[in-house]
Amino acid sequence: MSGQRRVAIGMISHETNSFSPIPTTLESFGTQRHGILQGEQVVSALGGTKTGIGGFLDVAREEGWEAIGTVAASATPSANVAAEAHDWLKGRLIQGLREAGRIDGVLLHLHGAMLAQNAPDAEGDICRAVREAIGPDVPLVVELDLHGNITPEFCAVVDGVIVYDTNPHIDAYERGVEAAELLAAILNGQIERPRVYISKPPMMPPTINMRTAEGPMVQLLERGREWESGPGIVNVAVFPGFPYADFDGAGTSIVVTATDPELGARCAREMGALAWSLRDQFLKTIPPVEEAVSQALELVAGESADDGPVVLADVADNPGGGGSGDTPELLRELVRRGARGALACLWDPETTEQAHAAGVGAELDFRLGGKASDLYGEPVEARGVVRCLSDGVFTGYGPVVRGLTVRCGKTALIDVNGLQIVVTSIRHAANDQGYFRVVGIQPEREPLLVIKSRGHFRADFEPIARTIIEVDAPGAANPNLERYEFQHVRRPIWPLDPDVEWDAS
Ligand SMILES: [Zn+2]
Repeated sequence: MSGQRRVAIGMISHETNSFSPIPTTLESFGTQRHGILQGEQVVSALGGTKTGIGGFLDVAREEGWEAIGTVAASATPSANVAAEAHDWLKGRLIQGLREAGRIDGVLLHLHGAMLAQNAPDAEGDICRAVREAIGPDVPLVVELDLHGNITPEFCAVVDGVIVYDTNPHIDAYERGVEAAELLAAILNGQIERPRVYISKPPMMPPTINMRTAEGPMVQLLERGREWESGPGIVNVAVFPGFPYADFDGAGTSIVVTATDPELGARCAREMGALAWSLRDQFLKTIPPVEEAVSQALELVAGESADDGPVVLADVADNPGGGGSGDTPELLRELVRRGARGALACLWDPETTEQAHAAGVGAELDFRLGGKASDLYGEPVEARGVVRCLSDGVFTGYGPVVRGLTVRCGKTALIDVNGLQIVVTSIRHAANDQGYFRVVGIQPEREPLLVIKSRGHFRADFEPIARTIIEVDAPGAANPNLERYEFQHVRRPIWPLDPDVEWDAS
């Protein structure tokens, strides 16, 4: 081999929720912090950042590679990706590879649960196209999110798979470094070219208990590390999966990168059997709306306010998992019961416009939420007072968005009989106390907080919360999977078919 090694780098990332009422177009990918990056921009904008691509680029520098940017784009979770958007993004990636000329290796940061209208296994489709473009001899290593739904077709065309080990995800950079180091080991001849093995037990758990600090993921990750410390196994990637992407590849996958074919296949099988044996631990029963509100109001009435707020988590409407952020049923019950406290964030641009036009102190009739779709409930009709207006810009200080500028667009605080509702014109999961403070609310002093988020809010709210109650409410990401009419997932599959049996061998 002569001259400097040339490694192509790219990212296309979306967690698709087929039940989300929010469409996913090419424009959706342009609203992220960096917009869609192309060519050299990928390297200049993401070099030095603590992202997956930042990790690729740091290793590229150490190895003396020439890093060739192709495309980098991501979008907030939402519905099936429009065919035009998928084709355009894939087309940019392939064009970038073709224009690059000679390439020695490819590093991609994908999600794993992207579902396009014309390619349900979007990552498989992308990597097949990449393989066609680069030929059989150039290694391709991919970094993925553990919510990915992985298919055998995807595994057949890649040389290595590295997945996040943390949920909430805080190791995208470290796993990017690991993926690039794996590519380096292949290119430098330190390991034989590996292959990728997969096991898919017939299970598709909800996402509610996939945290990596506790629950079934702990045991799976530990066992994976044991395999990795032995010979022949390069990496064991555990994907509990993302059930709201409605296609036949949805569900749990164990993906093993190995240089020993026999061991690789055996490791995948054994790890798949372990996941299967732990499946019940992924489930969690949570109370429906009325019961959850009763529990919360009893706690609020029974204790002193010094104990901190009771938190109701509207997990089914988590914008970070494809929720619209505007489902109304929990809000409706709170208004009906005269609950006092604060809610963040209700995504409702129409209401923020109305409030900004009326001004602080105005009292008027509102129709709150339920506008993205009528699937999850009609708007809540209530009379309220505009307490505060804001441009919705703040700097995050909790662990999830610390130091980042958060933009909620026009924002208003609407007071309905003591229930203070933070209404924004940009969709956000309220994963930081700043979402309350931006309209003058001190969340630690409220008796009750209502938060539309699944898990990431915990990092900033657990320290002040007396208790957290997760609610089974209508929405696009409800942990009770019987709430959905799946059309394409393979059957039988647990827990939709509770009695399904599986023999791992
Ligand atoms: Zn994820």
